[in-house]
Formats: sequence, C-alpha cells, structure tokens
Amino acid sequence: MTTMNPPTMVLPSDQDATGRTLGDREIELVTEALRTGTLTSTKGSFVARLESAFARQIGSKYAYACSSGSAAIHAAISAIDPEPGDEIITSSITDMGALTPILYQGAIPVFAESDPRTLNVTAETIKPWISEKTKAIVVTHLFGNPCEMKAIMDLASLHGIPVIEDCAQAFLATSGGRNVGTIGTIGCFSMQQGKHMTCGEGGLVTTDDPVLARRMFLFVNKCYGYGDTNADHYYLALNSRLTEIQGAVALGQLEKLEECVHARTTHAAKLTAALKGIPGIEPFPVAEDATCVYWKYCLLVDANVVPDGAIGLARLLKARGISSAPRYIQKPAFMCEIFQKRRTFGKSEFPFTLARPEVLQYNRTQYPMTFAGLEHTLVLPWNERYTDEHIDYIASAIKEVLGH
Ligand SMILES: *Cc1c(COP(=O)(O)O)cnc(C)c1O
Repeated sequence: MTTMNPPTMVLPSDQDATGRTLGDREIELVTEALRTGTLTSTKGSFVARLESAFARQIGSKYAYACSSGSAAIHAAISAIDPEPGDEIITSSITDMGALTPILYQGAIPVFAESDPRTLNVTAETIKPWISEKTKAIVVTHLFGNPCEMKAIMDLASLHGIPVIEDCAQAFLATSGGRNVGTIGTIGCFSMQQGKHMTCGEGGLVTTDDPVLARRMFLFVNKCYGYGDTNADHYYLALNSRLTEIQGAVALGQLEKLEECVHARTTHAAKLTAALKGIPGIEPFPVAEDATCVYWKYCLLVDANVVPDGAIGLARLLKARGISSAPRYIQKPAFMCEIFQKRRTFGKSEFPFTLARPEVLQYNRTQYPMTFAGLEHTLVLPWNERYTDEHIDYIASAIKEVLGH
C-alpha cells in the first residue's frame, strides 16, 4: 500500500530573498555609499544616519551601530564596567551572543529561571539571584515577546541595578506603552540575517545615559577618543564598527521596519484566531500591557493531548513542508561546554574561578521550569513575507495533523 503525500506549500524563508524585503531601496543606498569611496563609518555618513534615525525610531537619546548583536551586548557590558567576578543576572534561554560578552569582561553570568509559558525571565525568577555582587541584569525579550518590564524595573531600581534589554528579537515590541530598548538602562539589537531588519551581520545599542553612551561609542571604536583634545586609547576595547555598506543596507531596512512589524503581527493574529479552540496547543501568552512583534510564532504543546508533544507535532508538520523547531534550542545555554567545562582563557577557567559556587550549579534540578518550558515549546518560522495563503496553509496543516 502506498500513502499519498499531501500537497505542500513552500513557506518564505528569512535566509533568502523569499522572506526578506531587501530590494531596490537598499541597492540605491549601497550604490550611493560605494560611490562616495568612503567605506569606514569613522569618515562616512551612512552609519551616522542609521544611528540617528534608529534613535528617533526607538525613542532613545543615543544609538550606536556595531558589528553584531553580540558586539552590542559586549559594548553594553563594557559600559557597565564590572569588576572581575561581579555577577550579571541573565536568561537561561537566550543566544550565546548574549552571554559570552559577560565572560569576556571577566564577569559571571548568573542564570535566572524561565517562565515556562514564554521562556522569558521574570522579576520573580530574577529576584532570588540578586546579591551584593550583582552588577547588572540582562533580560532577553524572546521571540519578540517582551518580558514583564514593569516588575523587573521595580525590582532593579529597588536594588539600584542597571537593566540591559536584549532586543535582538524584539524590534518595536512594547511593554507598558514604551518601546523595548528604552525601558531599561541600555537596549541591544541585532541585525543578523534572520532578525526584523538586517544587513547580514550588525548590531545597535541604545541608551538615554550620556556617560554609558560615550563608553559604548568608545568600546566600538578601540576606545579611541575621536575628536578629543589629546585623544588617546583610554581603556581595553575592540573594533566592532559597522561598515558604511552595511549601514546603507540597514538604513534601507529601517525605513521598512514598521511595515515589517505590522505584517508579522497581523498575520500572527490571524493564525492565533485560526488555532483558537484546538485542544493541546496554545500560543505563547502576551502580557496585557505588551505588544509582541513575533520574531517567531511559538506554541505551547501539551504532550498529554498531542502524541509525542512538541516533537511529535514538529514531525507531522515537517511532512507538510513546515519545518518548525521543537524546544527552540536543544538545551539551556548553561548546558553548553563553555559553561559545563569552563572553556575560556587557556586552562585558567577564568572568570569562573572567581564565582560563588552556588551560582555555578548548571543543572536540571536547579532549573526545572527552564527545562519544562523547552520541552513543550514548538517554534514556527515566521517572517514579514507571509501572506494570508501561508497562514491558511499553516493553520489547516496544524488542524489536519491534530485531527481537528
Ligand atoms: C541574534 C541574537 C543575539 C546575537 O546577535 P548576533 O548578531 O548574532 O551576534 C543576541 N541575543 C539574541 C536574543 C539573539 O536572538
């Protein structure tokens, strides 16, 4: 007996032109940048234009561009200037690029538990880790869904601790009526290929604080005091500048950002409506005072209802041409070798050697909600080029494989 394969539809992908909006406008800007003959942002105007337009768009006083989202986090951590062994509370489920800069600056990432329904950190999960060694809190707004910032900011200001928002997945998402990246002390963004706006690789930092702004500018520029009388390299820093070509592409992308977010959110609302009432699956909840910008579309999958849970549903969807990611990442960041084997600088294990032992217990028993959260998460790919037909296709595929 042969089984008929159901017809499949190819979804647009954010890894190529099908799911990206790169086009004539970017080509025009890149051409313009090239013709100037100035490709470094230290002399050109495209990166500078990007920075002021982005600050305006987000509503921050300062914005600086850099080479990646990881570099953005690194600039932020460097600006906060932890002493070796200082602790920085962060998310268990996040991109490695949000964590390695902490170690490079000699500080200890201290992992907070995740809300199992959003995988985000919360004030309640951060609170138990606050100590006299806490130098900053880094929160990741995962999948474009903001962390509950009011409670987090209340907690942080009670202790006088700065908050860094990792907005790599959350361009123009809001919490309490404000754009993420303007609520905490510093905002960090990524313009990597798959983010809401892209120039292949790239990053942005935002802040209202002039001192931190200056330190982040310096960090991206080998800490050279351009324009200062008696300019010098003041302290340890890298070159993580964006090029003018990347700046030109990003400038074109920024013009389309609102439209991109609108497309992603309206289609997400359509899918949410279409999936309403299907037993065993539920979209990730969005806080009442927040707007989610859907970097991806996430489902909570109940393994008591759906055979094999998220993994089972992913397998069935794969046969319909929909490649989803059960669990998002295979394991929490602290299960990677960097943390488990302390692979850092030579054999030194620095800076872990300076850490309190209780913050280094990277295991399942310490983080039950993080592991449980990953277990029942299914991440659907998402981008601004989805049409109503794609949404109908995804919704009917899900209904069909769940026998609804
Ligand atoms: C993409 C991403 C980063 C890192 O950005 P890169 O540009 O890849 O270095 C950091 N944090 C989060 C949450 C991300 O999604």
